[in-house]
Amino acid sequence: MSEPAGAPHPIPGTAVSDLVSFDGGVRRREALMRPDRYRDLMSLPASQPRIVRGGGYSYVAAGFGGGGVVQDARAFNRIVAFDESTGVLECEGATTLGKVFTVAAPRGWYLPVQPGYPDITIGGCIATDAHGKNQLKDGTFRQVVTSLDLYHPRHGVLRLDGQTNGRLLELTCGGLGLTGHMLRARLQLARIPEGRVRIARHRIARFEDTLATLEAHAARADLIYTWHDFTVRGGGFGRGFAHAGRFVPGTADPRPGRAHSVDARTRARYGVQLLNGATTPAFNRAYELWQSLQPAERDTSLFDALFPVARKVIYFELFGRTGFHEYQLLAPHDRFPALARSLREYLDHHRTPVTLASCKLFAGSQRYLRFQGPGLCLALDFPRGDAGTRFAAFLDGLVRDLGARPNVSKDSRLPREIVAACYPEYGAFRDALRAFDPDRLYRSEVSERLGL
Ligand SMILES: Cc1cc2nc3c(=O)[nH]c(=O)nc-3n(C[C@H](O)[C@H](O)[C@H](O)COP(=O)(O)OP(=O)(O)OC[C@H]3O[C@@H](n4cnc5c(N)ncnc54)[C@H](O)[C@@H]3O)c2cc1C
Repeated sequence: MSEPAGAPHPIPGTAVSDLVSFDGGVRRREALMRPDRYRDLMSLPASQPRIVRGGGYSYVAAGFGGGGVVQDARAFNRIVAFDESTGVLECEGATTLGKVFTVAAPRGWYLPVQPGYPDITIGGCIATDAHGKNQLKDGTFRQVVTSLDLYHPRHGVLRLDGQTNGRLLELTCGGLGLTGHMLRARLQLARIPEGRVRIARHRIARFEDTLATLEAHAARADLIYTWHDFTVRGGGFGRGFAHAGRFVPGTADPRPGRAHSVDARTRARYGVQLLNGATTPAFNRAYELWQSLQPAERDTSLFDALFPVARKVIYFELFGRTGFHEYQLLAPHDRFPALARSLREYLDHHRTPVTLASCKLFAGSQRYLRFQGPGLCLALDFPRGDAGTRFAAFLDGLVRDLGARPNVSKDSRLPREIVAACYPEYGAFRDALRAFDPDRLYRSEVSERLGL
C-alpha cells in the first residue's frame, strides 16, 4: 500500500494504518476502521474479508494481517448489566478486564481467570481462551463464559450458549476471532473470598525441581507460578522461586491499582534493544536479588495479584523496536524430566539470553487449538535476533518430539507444520471453521500462516 499511514483508504470508512504485533514480529499496513455504532461495523459489504481487533495486546498478529479490513472494536466497551446476587455480568466485546474489575470488585465479585494486563479486552480473552494465574484450579476463560452474541455477515447475530449453537460456542472460545465479531458476552464471576492475597515465595534450587515444588504447593494456592533464571550454567540452571498466593482475611482494596500504559506501538518507544546477550544475565541476577530481599510472605491487593505486570511494563519496552519472542509450551507431566534436560543441554551450549522463564500447572482436556490440558506450562521470553531465531526453531522440534504443545497465540512465527503436528484437532478446527464460513471472511496473519 503506497498511501501514508492515516490517509483515507479506498475502502469507504477506513484509513491506512500501520499495525504491529505486541512482540514486534509482524508489521502490516492495512485498512482500519473504528466503528462506534453497530450499524457501522455491519456496513462493510458482506463479501469483504475482515478481522476484529480488541486491545491489540496479542503477542501474535491475530487481530490484523489477513489483508482485509481491520475493525477496531474498542468503542464497544460498555458493561450492559451486572446481577450482584448471581455474579453474572453482561458486557460488550471490547470491555476491558480493568473495567470489569472496577465495577465488580467493590460489589465483592471478580473474574477468577484473567491474563495479567488490565487493558486486555473480554473479546481478546475469549478468542485466545486466555488463562490466568491458576489454570489448574480455575481453568481457562471458556470456564467463565456462559453465552455470547456473535455477528457474522452470512449468519446475522447469533446467540451462542449451552442450548443454542453450542458447537459454535466451543469453536469461538479459543477460535482466534475467526468465527465473527463477538458483540456481547455473559460471564460468570466468582465471589472474592477474602480481602487480601498473601503471596509466599519458595526457593527452587534448579529447574529440575520445578514440577515437584509446584505440586507441593498447588493444592493450597489460589494462584501459583514460578520464575527461573535460564542464564545460569551448570547445576544451578533454572534456579528461581515459586510464588504461591492464597486469599487471607484483611481489609479489601477494591480500587483498581495503578497500571503503566503500554500498547503494541508504544512498547517500542526506546528503539534500542536493551535486553540482549550482554545485559540479560545481569538483569536476571538483579531481579533474583530483588526478589530474595522481599519478605518470604507478603500481602497484596487483589488488583496487584491479578495484574502483576501492570506496573512492570518497562520490561517489554527494554526489547526495543526489534522486539522479542514469547514461546509458551505445555508438556505432559511425564515429559518434564526430558524437557528440563533438553533445555539445560541446549542452553549450556548455545548462549541465548532468556529474559523470562516461568511455569504454571495446567489441567483440563484439549480441544481444537486451545492451549489446555494436563501438564506443566512453561513460558520463555528472549530477544529477537540470530540466537533467538535458532532457539525458537529448537523449541519447535522439542515440543513436537516430546508430545508437548506450543501456544499459537504467543509466538508470531510458529510454523504451520508444528501446529498441525502438535494439535490433534488442528484439522477438525479448520474443517469446522470452513463449514460455518465457507468464504472464511474473518482472517488474520495467524489464520493465513497456519492455513486456517
Ligand atoms: C502484558 C501481557 C500479559 C498477558 N498475560 C497473559 C496471561 O496471563 N495469560 C494469557 O492467556 N494471555 C496473556 N496475554 C495475552 C493476551 O491475553 C491475549 O493475547 C489477548 O487475546 C489480548 O486481547 P486483546 O484485547 O488485546 O485482543 P487483540 O490482541 O486485539 O486480539 C486478539 C484476538 O482476539 C480477537 N478479538 C478481540 N476482540 C474480539 C471481538 N469482540 N470479537 C471477535 N474477536 C475478537 C481478535 O480478532 C484476535 O484474534 C498477555 C498479553 C500481554 C501483552
